[in-house]
Amino acid sequence: MSKKIEEFMAMVIERNPGEPEFHQAVREVAESVIPFIEKNPKYQKAKILERMTEPERVIMFRVPWLDDKGEVQINRGYRIQMSSAIGPYKGGIRLHPSVNLSILKFLAFEQVFKNSLTTLPMGGAKGGSNFDPKGKSDNEVMRFCQSFMTELAKHIGSDTDVPAGDIGTGAREIGYMFGQYKRLRNEFTGVLTGKGLGWGGSLIRPEATGYGCVYFVQEMLKTRGESLKGKICTVSGSGNVAQYTVEKLIQLDAKPVTLSDSNGFIYDPKGVDEQKLEFVMELKNVKRGRIKEYADEFKCKYFEGKFPWEIKCDVAFPSATQNEIHEADAKKLVKNGCIAIGEGANMPSTPEAVEVFLDAKILYAPGKASNAGGVAISGLEMSQNSQRLSWTRDEVDEKLLQIMISIHESCVKYGKEGKYINYVNGANIAGFVKVANAMIDQGLV
Ligand code: NDP
Repeated sequence: MSKKIEEFMAMVIERNPGEPEFHQAVREVAESVIPFIEKNPKYQKAKILERMTEPERVIMFRVPWLDDKGEVQINRGYRIQMSSAIGPYKGGIRLHPSVNLSILKFLAFEQVFKNSLTTLPMGGAKGGSNFDPKGKSDNEVMRFCQSFMTELAKHIGSDTDVPAGDIGTGAREIGYMFGQYKRLRNEFTGVLTGKGLGWGGSLIRPEATGYGCVYFVQEMLKTRGESLKGKICTVSGSGNVAQYTVEKLIQLDAKPVTLSDSNGFIYDPKGVDEQKLEFVMELKNVKRGRIKEYADEFKCKYFEGKFPWEIKCDVAFPSATQNEIHEADAKKLVKNGCIAIGEGANMPSTPEAVEVFLDAKILYAPGKASNAGGVAISGLEMSQNSQRLSWTRDEVDEKLLQIMISIHESCVKYGKEGKYINYVNGANIAGFVKVANAMIDQGLV
């Protein structure tokens, strides 16, 4: 079997040279799905996995804009439309200096499986730019977003491709992009999700990824007769996903003790409570400051240039970025008694780290399952926009909970190995089957 996987990966690497993150994401799926395809030859005959690893469309474009000094700046914009087998393309826009083709192809590929798991009709895509919103004025961010959307608008639409937020793209950026799309097209449609509440947004969308991740971990813990109550939790990141992960953990009487940003992490052994979280939200969403200021404000330790995995915890929630947990971190987590990992970020654990978690048979939720709540509520934002209705907070939260329970059930169905649930195999195979069947039904697409 491993020969088949190696042959397949050699083909993927040859076709996509110099794209290590894309190779990593494909390999993880191939390792789960190729053994399954062997038992279901119709997928082999139709070359489904070979087709799924070739994006339907890749768009790359120039984004020129003027900074506050009147100087011309040039960034590169991207949209990877990976699969439209089960619905319009859907996936976020990442604005970060590290953005490149490899990172966006890995994210778009993951998105296909994630969106399939949500039970909603959404294809997979991802986009972004190497633009860094950090340190830019609101006007600079607006000019960049308008220029970015001027090109992107030609390729998206409420029934074609519906982008959303991701790293560096929050409510402010979505607003500027939506405004520009509306001017260009003269139509008010649900072309982006994560919109403001007063102009087509859904309640619970900002909370959805973090809340959903905690709901998923709750389901995993139930399989071992455990709950989150009283559990010490380490969280990385301090952006959208991390903030609402912490909020839900507080509500469920767990104890979140860390937060981080790209400069370092804070460790607050007394726990981040509601009032401290309010400080973090103001710091990160309004003042756009650094997490170190939390340590200064609440007199706790700050660790420069580090991720929080050395801190003893029961459950870890990596919620910053890809490959933030390495093998040595994973070993430390397991040694310190960590019983569950809920990935809020996309692919935060390296393949070697994942192996450590699976070997130790701890509860390990891969991001494509545990962070699917965000895109699920984006899907519900699309439904509300189409109906020109908005649902209540409780209604949407209840739907989010049910979707996370259903994703957990799908993972259990396809990932059970004796008493152990391999959530990696479960998520990959469950996500694959729906897309693969749609592709077979639709002919050679
Ligand atoms: P935000 O931009 O709101 O926050 C990102 C956080 O991670 C910030 O604290 C940022 O620190 C930190 N971070 C980013 N890059 C790095 C890096 N290279 N090293 C260390 N820290 C870093 O993004 P989100 O919270 O939206 O996204 C976080 C993760 O969750 C990403 O992997 C994203 O793809 C994933 N995700 C997000 C969803 C959503 O709905 N928003 C949905 C599903 C997944 P700093 O401020 O210093 O940059």
